[in-house]
Amino acid sequence: MSIRVENLSHTYNPGTPFEQCAIDNVTLEIKDGEFVAIVGETGSGKSTLIQHFNGLLKPTEGRVLVDGVDIWGKGVHLKAIRQKVGLVFQYPEHQLFEETVFKDIAFGPRNMGLDDDEVEKRVKQAMKMVGLDFKTVCDRSPFELSGGEKRRVAMAGVIAMEPSVIVLDEPASGLDPFGRDQVLTEIQQLHREFGFTVILVSHSMEDVAKLARRVIVFHRGKLIADGPTRDVFNMEDVLSRAGLEVPQITRLMQELGERNMKVRTDILSVEEAKHEILRVLRSEGRVS
Ligand code: ADP
Ligand code: MG
Repeated sequence: MSIRVENLSHTYNPGTPFEQCAIDNVTLEIKDGEFVAIVGETGSGKSTLIQHFNGLLKPTEGRVLVDGVDIWGKGVHLKAIRQKVGLVFQYPEHQLFEETVFKDIAFGPRNMGLDDDEVEKRVKQAMKMVGLDFKTVCDRSPFELSGGEKRRVAMAGVIAMEPSVIVLDEPASGLDPFGRDQVLTEIQQLHREFGFTVILVSHSMEDVAKLARRVIVFHRGKLIADGPTRDVFNMEDVLSRAGLEVPQITRLMQELGERNMKVRTDILSVEEAKHEILRVLRSEGRVS
């Protein structure tokens, strides 16, 4: 499933003293099977943008096309779009409200009018996909779970509707390192093992380096870069304008490059850096 926005603009509270242009003439396309990160400072328009992907917000100008169909066109059922493009909000645990994990995850599928057997099947499947054990967790209250578990319950609630695209707004923010790792690992699995198209909003460039193959950079409502992660991480001007810093390991390699060590500077992980440094040292006969 592909998502395309064309010349999208969104203004909050138009015609009032609180008028705020949050998205300014943005065009982009996300294709089936991609893992894309959307990055930018707080207030750059990320959350506003993604709420257009499934029709939660309506463009002030421009169009949103899902599989080529204008979702605000006549005869289009937004309910079907919202099921296909699943959105996990920032701090999704604030929206957990049922007394058991099962009921919470079942909420979406039930609303779709599915029968009990199908609902249960989907809850089980969704829990498995986010690494939650059905037997031990399904009857617990979502409120007594850890931060990382709560997030994964919220993710399962979206997955249980069987979307093809999953959009996650800052899914790791506010979690302790253990919870972060859990959540990010599960997101990676959703893409790699289960084939979901993933759109990840994040301001952690470390997480983006690990996960995404493509990065879109926002600054004050405008799209200022869009390309393969390695390329975007090497665009110093763009990143400094957007107030973003590359991961320390990327920065280290860029500095070695600036000091005339003949290393590649488009490095995204410690492992890659190690290989690259050893390669250069070997070629110079300094290590065996
Ligand atoms: P981000 O997710 O990158 O932090 P947002 O999309 O939340 O950015 O916000 C973009 C701009 O729109 C900001 O200036 C923000 O204050 C404003 N904004 C966001 N939501 C609303 C809203 N519901 N009403 C009015 N202004 C809003
Ligand atoms: Mg946001």
